[in-house]
Amino acid sequence: MQTRQPERLIVVLGDQLNRDSAALQALNPQRDVVWMAEAREEATHVWSHKARIALFLAAMRHFRDQLRKRGLTVEYHALDEDRETSLASLLAQDLGRLRAGSVRMVQAGDHRVQTALERAVARAGAALARVPDRHFLCSLEDFDAWAEGRKQLRLEHFYRHLRQRTGVLMDGDAPVGGRWNFDADNRGRFGRQGPASLRAPKSFRPDAITRDVLGLVERRFAQHPGSLDAFDWPVTRRQALLALGDFIEHRLPMFGRYQDAMWDSEPWLYHSRLSAALNLKLLAPAEVIAAAEQALTDGHAPVNAVEGFIRQILGWREFVRGLYWRDMPEYAGRNELNAQLPLPDFYWTADTDMACLRSVVGQTLQYGYAHHIQRLMVTGLFALLLGVEPKRVHEWYLAVYVDAVEWVELPNTIGMSQYADGGVMASKPYVASGRYISRMSNYCGTCRYDPAQATGDTACPFTTLYWDFLMRHRDRFANHPRTGYQWRNLTRLSTPQRRAIRQQAARLRERLVAANAKT
Ligand code: FAD
Ligand code: SF4
Repeated sequence: MQTRQPERLIVVLGDQLNRDSAALQALNPQRDVVWMAEAREEATHVWSHKARIALFLAAMRHFRDQLRKRGLTVEYHALDEDRETSLASLLAQDLGRLRAGSVRMVQAGDHRVQTALERAVARAGAALARVPDRHFLCSLEDFDAWAEGRKQLRLEHFYRHLRQRTGVLMDGDAPVGGRWNFDADNRGRFGRQGPASLRAPKSFRPDAITRDVLGLVERRFAQHPGSLDAFDWPVTRRQALLALGDFIEHRLPMFGRYQDAMWDSEPWLYHSRLSAALNLKLLAPAEVIAAAEQALTDGHAPVNAVEGFIRQILGWREFVRGLYWRDMPEYAGRNELNAQLPLPDFYWTADTDMACLRSVVGQTLQYGYAHHIQRLMVTGLFALLLGVEPKRVHEWYLAVYVDAVEWVELPNTIGMSQYADGGVMASKPYVASGRYISRMSNYCGTCRYDPAQATGDTACPFTTLYWDFLMRHRDRFANHPRTGYQWRNLTRLSTPQRRAIRQQAARLRERLVAANAKT
């Protein structure tokens, strides 16, 4: 480890592997030292999936080696197998040891980390320079300016604003294809026969560096959830670009039509699998969007697919980041619906008789991946309908997905999925009965429950809890302009039916809480 006294430490965190980062520009290799650290706390502050830990460490080690090849000095802390370490404690230690006068960094992806690092730098008496994050298309200042004075922050308005500002999918002042939104074309399902001849996405066999990391994680985090057997994620920029090309070529054309569909044992369908590479900053959103737009220009992919895909990145991804930094740290504690139950244990084991949850949680443990509708309308929906405390749901999502970084995970969980922010992120709670899952997937075909039944031995727990949710939250939503229609359906239920549903929901909750207590 080098000991020369540097003028500046350039902090590069595990989700900042952007070779074009402003922090890495105009460095003096004689006086500046890049600082990277594998801190145990980042793997343990939530009970992280092994694949999530491995992905971060493998990508960091590859990035370190590339920086060294560029002639930069990198002070790198490999994971200390025996000691509890945090990013802040390691940085404090090095600021003392190396006596660097200042620290330069891009804002962290997690409020907790940013605050801890700022404190460590201040305590060491060093100066901190925070440089703009060039990765994103909308700066936090621009987001705040857009949000200023608006009663409600809605994705659709923000997304149109960014399309107009960036010119993405614009034809002069008009949206390409004559519409801003092709969602109506994007609700396809597979029918009984299932998806036709899916091609496996590009897979990246672990090299020596990654194999070392996999061994380390297997040894050091043996008790953590998830498996490493299928680990094939891109861990370098070169691999990330290959993954992007593979998606554009083979899956983008069908992405739109089937973006909401689910199918047992088919985790990827037509999704891009690019979220982790984007969040580690191996890929820039601008280049991903440009590649999708080019596919439209070339006639390779239709407008509903390209618009649907770009909306996720230019729209949702930038939107949730703006919300996160605008409303943190208060946002993390929101619990507008006062949900208090613990998270059922099967979220960590997939040991449940509900086929949809067994499949989605099982796939999550196997790969560290589930696509958006699986997260929103299976695992998220069940927790919302059951009434799980949002903080517990958040800890699970942050732990189990390879793409989980708090700025993107938290608003999606607290806001979109659990409605715990009272409607800041989503205009209405995403609630549905088992019939929705039945329509969009093949899960119900092998399930012991019946999605059409709300009471009785074969009643689908989603359906029971859906009606129970409508009853429990009637006062809040029955007169809401966007939800009233759903709540009006309650009038179809007789008083005895309502009573039976309430009782069945109460028994279900008791059973799940009792199962948690046993383990
Ligand atoms: P695709 O379906 O191919 O979508 C393309 C890209 O769009 C993604 O790679 C991603 O970068 C972006 N994107 C799509 N939806 C969203 C969204 N709602 N918010 C932000 N970006 C989006 N995404 C994360 O990157 N990290 C998370 O920790 C995360 N947690 C989530 C938690 C919940 C409860 C929910 C409902 C969604 C969460 N998402 C998260 C959003 C989304 O589910 C994932 O981005 C997506 O499933 C990743 O798979 P993909 O790359 O194949 O995406
Ligand atoms: Fe899930 Fe209900 Fe369908 Fe079973 S019947 S798979 S629990 S939605």
